Amino acid sequence: MSRVWNFSAGPAAMPQAVLERAQQELLDWNGSGASVMEQSHRGKRFIAMAAQAESDLRELLAIPKDYAVLFLQGGATQLFAQIPMNLATQGGSADYVDSGHWSSKAISEAAPYVRVNTVASGKVDAYQRVPPPDSWQLDPQAAYVHYTPNETIHGVEFHHIPEVGPVPLVADMSSNILSAPLDISRFGLIYAGAQKNIGPSGLVVMIIRRDLLQRVSQPMARIFRFAEQAANDSMLNTPNTWGWYVAGLTFQWLKDQGGLSVMDERNRAKADLLYQTIDGSQGYYRNPIDPSSRSRMNVPFTLHDGALDALFLQESEAAGLLALKGHKAVGGMRASLYNAVPLAAVQALTDFMLNFSRRHG
Ligand SMILES: *Cc1c(COP(=O)(O)O)cnc(C)c1O
Repeated sequence: MSRVWNFSAGPAAMPQAVLERAQQELLDWNGSGASVMEQSHRGKRFIAMAAQAESDLRELLAIPKDYAVLFLQGGATQLFAQIPMNLATQGGSADYVDSGHWSSKAISEAAPYVRVNTVASGKVDAYQRVPPPDSWQLDPQAAYVHYTPNETIHGVEFHHIPEVGPVPLVADMSSNILSAPLDISRFGLIYAGAQKNIGPSGLVVMIIRRDLLQRVSQPMARIFRFAEQAANDSMLNTPNTWGWYVAGLTFQWLKDQGGLSVMDERNRAKADLLYQTIDGSQGYYRNPIDPSSRSRMNVPFTLHDGALDALFLQESEAAGLLALKGHKAVGGMRASLYNAVPLAAVQALTDFMLNFSRRHG
């Protein structure tokens, strides 16, 4: 067996220690004689595991008591619709910041449920920097302000939490949650599809200030209602048991690594190495993003000659570097550097890039 260095944007690399532990426990989980996937989510073993996962996440992010943590089925895309359904009244409006592909998606999916007020858009800058928060035209009556702290496809990231006053701030952190410590108290709601920085797809982790659960919302089935999910410990129906379990293993792994300030340092070192290699290549490689908005998680880059793209991908894959092809919306290459991607992977990538540029000058 040989594992490659995996730069996939999502579903993405997971820590090897987590995969090994899941493998060891697959047939006989926790002395039960059965897999975690083969038993009731109402059983005491599963309930204890679920509670431990939540408490480990609370510890990692120092989540205050007045926030609920939910482990929901589905993906971030589902939340694009569920958030306005839950937080906005019929006929109400919400402020949205458009900083790239995913925030644009959030806007179009919210439109059937809330009057969307796009307060700023990075489109005028070709999404090469985040719209500066001091330029946002915020509405104090908005139900909430939605933004995307890290744009997975465009590779732009907010490096500060925007100040939006008393209106609740809602953040799609699918691709940068747990990459660094975070002041949860600045947010009304945070959500993240698991398959970038947490675990398997099909699970969304949501952190919501409890008072927002009381909002009068639009008519909808109980399953979509955050308050119902919170009241039922995210087990209104059968949850994604496997996803929840693997997320829990990832939280334990993060604690074993020393927590989020350690991940922060490692993520900084990884991104610095790759950006320095790109910037030091005298134009051979190029990242178009304004340095103040560069993502630490997703680094898109192009080659000076697009005709070399196919060869770059072919040779990099042969060298054990997986999934460097850029998203079709921006082209070129993209390296995703989530928590599970070690510095050694980025060293292997940058060595390859230098070597490639020497051979194909
Ligand atoms: C991947 C991604 C999504 C979409 O997630 P799904 O789970 O596939 O719905 C949404 N937002 C961001 C920032 C993402 O990176």
